[in-house]
Amino acid sequence: MAHNHYDVVVIGSGPGGASLATRLAPTGKRILILERGDYLPRSEKNWSSQAVFVEGVYQADEPWTNSKGDQFSPALHYYVGGNSKVYGAALLRLRERDFGEVVHAGGISPAWPVSYEVFEPYYTQAERLFHVHGQRGEDPLEPWASAPYPHQPVSHEPKIAELAHNFRGIGLHPFHLPLGILLDEKDGKPTPTSVCMRCSFFDGFPCLLNGKADAQVVCIDPMLASFSNVTLLTGAYVARLGTDASGHMVNAIHVKRNGSEEIYSADIVVVACGALSSALLLLRSASDLHPAGLANGSGQLGRNYMRHNMSVLMAIVPDINDTVFQKTLAFSDFYFGAKDWDHPLGLVQMCATSHPDQIRGEALPKWLEWLPDMPFDVLARHSMDFWLQAEDLPHPDNRVYYKEQKVHLDLVETNPQALVHLKRKLREVLDRAGHKPKAMIERSLYLGKNIPLGGTAHQAGTARFGTDPKTSVLDLDCKAHELDNLYIADASFFPAIGAVNPTLTIIANALRVADRIAERLK
Ligand SMILES: Cc1cc2nc3c(=O)[nH]c(=O)nc-3n(C[C@H](O)[C@H](O)[C@H](O)COP(=O)(O)OP(=O)(O)OC[C@H]3O[C@@H](n4cnc5c(N)ncnc54)[C@H](O)[C@@H]3O)c2cc1C
Ligand code: SF4
Repeated sequence: MAHNHYDVVVIGSGPGGASLATRLAPTGKRILILERGDYLPRSEKNWSSQAVFVEGVYQADEPWTNSKGDQFSPALHYYVGGNSKVYGAALLRLRERDFGEVVHAGGISPAWPVSYEVFEPYYTQAERLFHVHGQRGEDPLEPWASAPYPHQPVSHEPKIAELAHNFRGIGLHPFHLPLGILLDEKDGKPTPTSVCMRCSFFDGFPCLLNGKADAQVVCIDPMLASFSNVTLLTGAYVARLGTDASGHMVNAIHVKRNGSEEIYSADIVVVACGALSSALLLLRSASDLHPAGLANGSGQLGRNYMRHNMSVLMAIVPDINDTVFQKTLAFSDFYFGAKDWDHPLGLVQMCATSHPDQIRGEALPKWLEWLPDMPFDVLARHSMDFWLQAEDLPHPDNRVYYKEQKVHLDLVETNPQALVHLKRKLREVLDRAGHKPKAMIERSLYLGKNIPLGGTAHQAGTARFGTDPKTSVLDLDCKAHELDNLYIADASFFPAIGAVNPTLTIIANALRVADRIAERLK
């Protein structure tokens, strides 16, 4: 048993777990990373929209159940690097006001228990770790930053530059979308030695060239190459955590690997399975001492689940859109409201260009059926694709839990008004900027089938942090209130999600939590 004891065990190798381990690796402490998945295979399928979006070959085959008893497939990806293997790498900071209470049309987004100042240094470090390309000063809502972006913004192709110009002409403030990418450009073209070649498969696809700054490429691979004190076990599913007789220390990590059970232990245990899977692990770890689930004295574990109200809109424009790498522009002008709307609306960003196979797999509106042979390639060439994201609000009944050994995910939509109005605003600004779309079509495949339930990409909030153990699961260091050696380092801790993509905040927080753990290990 002795060799199975580590200083730190990290469960999950996504951006949260991998960033935390990367930060702790130079301490020389013995660190074990347990990852249920394997390395995502590099193959031509990585860039097949049929395989990725229509067949969902990389998505976990794991039916979950909704409140009506129907089954659906959550958009989960179990690989070294976690969901970042397929993410779109838009890495933005929460706005400073997101850390305070925000009043929405649909209710209140609660204040975080710490301010932006606490996170700022870690955001800067997270941007360095994940190779973020961006341009300070363009986004009017960007919070203050102690350093410039580590890399130049990813340049716009002509059609997107034209769109940015026209948006500016009507008073909007489009900005270069901050992206985590291993791209070197000269005159808008990738240099001969650039890892990324600026192709059209950026968003939702795994990168065949390892050009995306995902957690495997920027954390796990370099860490394992440099630090012999770090070990990664793949195919290692953590079934449950056990505690000592006091109930205050995790002393057994039960792992299923290669068909048998192994037990590990550690001075510090960090759970970073993704917000839904982390809550499920702690719920599975219920015992006589923790009957409602480990660290669940508050009854809040698994509750307050958030995931953004999201929409991918394909605007069919008259001109051919020959953009290859489209995901370079965003605007936040309606983030906290608009002239005709007193409440926050959200963020608009471009996403990857639509591929014909992808469109073919979508549940397209009936009226498109009159088109002869459904010319998906024509639609694809005339589309400009936008990702709209509005804040959803924490609600105790939005929760993940086990019932009769099946995973249930209950979801009541909160604050839907914001997304509805944001869609109207997008159409309005496209019209005013001279890009009047012939149609705006919802694309659902990118977000995962069975939207909104299956759209778990931006999962957060299932073990929120706070100062009061009666209303929160984690303390301000993301240590479980009720356990002395158990931390969570994914988006579980979010008390509110804002309307920016969550991963830079997950990474920043993981670095922050790692610093707290490093102090303890000294
Ligand atoms: C299609 C798509 C596009 C996205 N685009 C963006 C974007 O542009 N910008 C952005 O900010 N975010 C984006 N996201 C979200 C982003 O991927 C997640 O926020 C991020 O990956 C979360 O990191 P994490 O470490 O918390 O969890 P995950 O990435 O989910 O990693 C958790 C890891 O834990 C492992 N695990 C789970 N359970 C166990 C267990 N019991 N035992 C052992 N291991 C376990 C999993 O296999 C996984 O590797 C996107 C997500 C998707 C799916
Ligand atoms: S755009 Fe770059 S990072 Fe994205 S899939 Fe293509 S080569 Fe990979």
